[in-house]
Amino acid sequence: MGGRPIEDIAKTTDENHGANTAYRVLYDGQCEICQACVSWLKTLDRESATICLPISAEILLAVDSRLKMDECLRQLHVVTPEDEILVGWDAVSCLARLFPSTWLIGAAGQRFPFRNGGRLLYGFVAKNRYSLSKCRGGACRVAKPEAVRRQARLSAFWSCYTLGFFIRLPLVLWAGIKASVQRTSIFARTYHKRLDLLNGKLTILFLNGFLPDTVPLLFGELFTTVLYDGIAVDPGSPKMRRSLARHLRREKPQITKVVATHAHEEHVGNLNWLSDLTGAPVHVSEMTSRFLMPFKKLPWVRATIIGQPPNLAQPFRLLGETVDTDSGYLRVIPTPGHSDDHVVLYDPVEKVLLAGDAFMGSYFATPNPDVDSRKWLVSLERLMELDIEILVEGHGHIHTLRADIPDFPGVVTRQDPKVAIIEKMEYLRWLREQIEAGFQDQLPMRVIEASCFPWGRRTSWESCATDECIRLLSLGHFSRTELVRSFVRSDSVPLPTVYEIRISGGE
Ligand SMILES: [Zn+2]
Repeated sequence: MGGRPIEDIAKTTDENHGANTAYRVLYDGQCEICQACVSWLKTLDRESATICLPISAEILLAVDSRLKMDECLRQLHVVTPEDEILVGWDAVSCLARLFPSTWLIGAAGQRFPFRNGGRLLYGFVAKNRYSLSKCRGGACRVAKPEAVRRQARLSAFWSCYTLGFFIRLPLVLWAGIKASVQRTSIFARTYHKRLDLLNGKLTILFLNGFLPDTVPLLFGELFTTVLYDGIAVDPGSPKMRRSLARHLRREKPQITKVVATHAHEEHVGNLNWLSDLTGAPVHVSEMTSRFLMPFKKLPWVRATIIGQPPNLAQPFRLLGETVDTDSGYLRVIPTPGHSDDHVVLYDPVEKVLLAGDAFMGSYFATPNPDVDSRKWLVSLERLMELDIEILVEGHGHIHTLRADIPDFPGVVTRQDPKVAIIEKMEYLRWLREQIEAGFQDQLPMRVIEASCFPWGRRTSWESCATDECIRLLSLGHFSRTELVRSFVRSDSVPLPTVYEIRISGGE
């Protein structure tokens, strides 16, 4: 599993939880049913009262020498803080008693007749779990495609994957509901608001609009214009124009330049409009200017919700390597990946990175067809060379540890920007490995996609409801399938033709 060094286990038990205050739960890491139950346990266990350990000879020895491999594989074993070993149903009911929402089940389960019933039921599932989930042998343990092929047939993979999904379904739905409540609360707190930071040098204007508002509510992406030291970055789409005008009427900020990070509709719809209003010239990269003249016709869903931007009109200027601000300058750094024309703006003095869409959270699983994840990875490696203290995303999220940036839950994340970027890079590299192995083994696209979202990874089921909702509402334009495709763009690294044929249709 997660590769925790074995010798650390005893130590972790002691350090993190005080001497033996945690319940050590030994489960079969190769069984989808056991893994699904661990997902449940981790959700219930907010106080970290338990440590879940996949069974291996070394782990059993490290935890307690009385544990026997055969018996542990047959039934759940829990070692209590008092070093008592509980087995099977007794272990389940003991764990259930730890949490308020399941306490009653646990308490009743230790008494007649529930205890007897529980033992019978547990015995039945434990005996038959391999016939319920067929790919015993490590296939689902880490969802490595090569292991899937070597050790199990695809029908076994799907039976296992589907079973894992259904056991977690209540968790999936609950996570979906929780996330949507969270999104609504962030939306309400940012509605027509602005955020002044760094003594007014950095201002985030939150943009709204009747149909565009469905995006932050359903998907959590906020729309913003960033004002930085006289520069207005990404002034929104035509359907957000009234909201932007309202901000400008209220604040009357000094704007000396209008800049776009890339040619996506929610970033470039008001370039000329804002320039005409303020007299500030438009600056875009050469490639962005090509994408904007003319602006390609958007798929109707995007045109309806966000709005089709007008073509870029003369006069405008091309971005060079730097762009002057009121009190200094910003470096302009090409960062293809999210889109080919993407640039970020970096202030080396203040150590601020205006990242546009070059960073959209560490975990982002529903890209659009413009995304090229291999190029994105290279761009992120380039960003790692910068000294970044404040990372401002194009969709209203800020990552920083700096104390002069006030708390704003849901918008400001207290995290080192470089750590956030590393997390994203690690996620992309892991995906690349999964996808390449899948192609090597000639697995069908759907299996490769599933292997990128194994249920053992918490994010896979936590974001499942939201991701699938995005897929449905964007008619497949933004989806987990696109994430797999984003590693196999034809103009990226040359790939054997067979990959391209598989991607473009035939499985
Ligand atoms: Zn974008």
